[in-house]
Amino acid sequence: MTAPWLEQRAADIASAVRDGRVTSVALTDASFARATAVEAGKDGLNCIISADRNASLREAAAAPLGGALAGVPVVIKDNIATTFLTTSCGSNVLAGYVSPYNATVVERLRAAGAVLVGKSNMDEFAMGSSTEHSAFGPARNPVDPSRVPGGSSGGSAAAVAAGIAPIALGSETGGSVRQPASFCGIVGVKPTYGRVSRYGLVAFASSLDNVGVFGRTVDDAALTLEVIAGDDTAHDSTSAPRPAPVLRTTDTDLAGVVIGTPVEYFPPSLAPEIRALCERALDALRARGATVRDVSLPHTDYAIPAYYIIAPAECSANLARFDGVRYGLRVDGDGVRAMYEATRSRGFGAEVTRRVLLGTYVLSAGYYDAYYRKAMQVRELIRRDFDAVWASGVHALFTPTAPTTAFPIGAISDPYEMYLSDIFTVTANLAELPAMSMPIGRAASLPVGGQILAAKFDEATMFRVAYALEHALGTAAHA
Ligand code: GLN
Repeated sequence: MTAPWLEQRAADIASAVRDGRVTSVALTDASFARATAVEAGKDGLNCIISADRNASLREAAAAPLGGALAGVPVVIKDNIATTFLTTSCGSNVLAGYVSPYNATVVERLRAAGAVLVGKSNMDEFAMGSSTEHSAFGPARNPVDPSRVPGGSSGGSAAAVAAGIAPIALGSETGGSVRQPASFCGIVGVKPTYGRVSRYGLVAFASSLDNVGVFGRTVDDAALTLEVIAGDDTAHDSTSAPRPAPVLRTTDTDLAGVVIGTPVEYFPPSLAPEIRALCERALDALRARGATVRDVSLPHTDYAIPAYYIIAPAECSANLARFDGVRYGLRVDGDGVRAMYEATRSRGFGAEVTRRVLLGTYVLSAGYYDAYYRKAMQVRELIRRDFDAVWASGVHALFTPTAPTTAFPIGAISDPYEMYLSDIFTVTANLAELPAMSMPIGRAASLPVGGQILAAKFDEATMFRVAYALEHALGTAAHA
């Protein structure tokens, strides 16, 4: 007996559609049946916040049959523009908003035959690490519904882990794909900045933002990234004029590959269960022929402070457009100023408000040099730390993805403690590097992710390591 279609690899589903063994419509139907089941009841995951079964079935019936993702259901984070379903960014300010155009990544998925089955829950404007800060209520982790799925792309991660779709898109400004992938026991990839078009991704912090992919397996993520990557300079001037990379491989030999373990990512305070699973993964990589060596990224401690200045600074400028004039919510007041104030006070939640205030402050005359300029200098030092490691002959880095496993909903109320969830992930965004998380085992029955990073535009090496590790760990990755 073979596994139900939605539990199979995206590549196998697409080939079955191309051969006529299953239809796009039947797959879409199965996806909706699964979503209904996992969203029901008090432990419902609340991972999909916008869906329309009939519209998706129509899309499925019209989907091209020859593509790399023919008929494959896909869930998309609600900050990526689609002309059907909402693009609310998890915010009251955009509740019910429908985009007049599709993001480039959405056009590319559709051209490859993928079918959009839902927009996913997220922390408001992608600010958060738990998907608790959504105007649509918290999402839950399918592994344990009393816990968070991670964030801010927690809805997409939960949807893939729960089997609604084999693949999903999320966004990353400082770990928002990798950390939820780690918490939900799936694969999550943040590509090199510029590798994937940001056209149609609602801006949070433009110099850090990326579209990222989720898959149940390394191959699902590789295939999806191959489809969405590549030059889009006509729409996004920061898109790199390079062809999409070839990432899929059956080679699981790592002879000649040097993997660095940055000592700063394995501090004495690291949870012993997470350290032990990382050690097991590193042994598996050695057994595949890789050489593992300690390296140092000395400015790591300054990454969180720098990120939490740069990201709010950019967000305060980007979110200025939500003022009741052109998009979404408008709350009238006595005059235009009062209208701005009422709209923004009513429309934004506490975390977004905190970031806008912080960002406005660090950019203000008199504080700019002390905060923003200083943070940009630190960003440069973090980039140079990585450059020195690549120059020393290291091809990829391996670290834990997050310092903890999924925490209970409501457990973290201090914003600063929440920011520390991103301690191992924000560096790749600051340095514009490709990075991914993949399952390496479980601690107290909760998934643990291992992170692989590589040099800019070297996704191929990162995936080569990931394929080898997935193959070497086998079922242990989920045990
Ligand atoms: N958790 C980080 C933040 O709150 C990262 C968010 C993200 O990557 N979108 O800013």
